[in-house]
Amino acid sequence: MSDKIQKTGKIAEGFYLINEGFVCSYLLAARDRFIAFDSGIEPKTIVLALTDLSIDPAKVDTVLLTHSDRDHIGGRAAFPNAQAFISKAEEVMLDHSHARFLGITYNKPLPFEYSTLEPGQELLIDDSVEIRCLHTPGHTTGSMSFLIDDSILIVGDECNLRKGKAVLNMRMLSIDNNMRRDSIKQLAKLEGISLLCTAHSGYTANFSSAMKKWRS
Ligand SMILES: [Zn+2]
Repeated sequence: MSDKIQKTGKIAEGFYLINEGFVCSYLLAARDRFIAFDSGIEPKTIVLALTDLSIDPAKVDTVLLTHSDRDHIGGRAAFPNAQAFISKAEEVMLDHSHARFLGITYNKPLPFEYSTLEPGQELLIDDSVEIRCLHTPGHTTGSMSFLIDDSILIVGDECNLRKGKAVLNMRMLSIDNNMRRDSIKQLAKLEGISLLCTAHSGYTANFSSAMKKWRS
């Protein structure tokens, strides 16, 4: 059992969780626009969630995707004015170079245009917000985590939370769990994290407790 996922709403200043039930995505407010982290499953439910938050989906101009699984990219059409980004390393998941499950299924090419991100790339938003793109492979080959202002960490499916602790569940759904372990250990070294945000088990404000066993 994963932790109960928190409801759609503001979870920090200028930062929102969107809970579609099965999966969470996140939204960051910049000066007069928004940056989405993953896009959930269905455009319709994403638009409804944003309406509840009084946020105009047309103001989302950037979608940063943690990886190419359907439940992270499916709602992308909710953001008609946004440019989508995904890790360059994830492209092997999209062109059938790397299999998704047990060597028998493959992710489809993304059904929209996108630009690619490099490991360690830094994005400066409105000269005020900095987003660092961290290469954290394992769940998929090019899974990427995003670090906002050295404070909010979004990890997609790289790990989940159980009773507040980062765990390596979804093993069968990940392509290399040893690689995943290494990625989580790298993330655990980060300091000053105020929120650890996962896709399928909500978030925690207690990063050091969540990552304790990964730090040794
Ligand atoms: Zn996934």
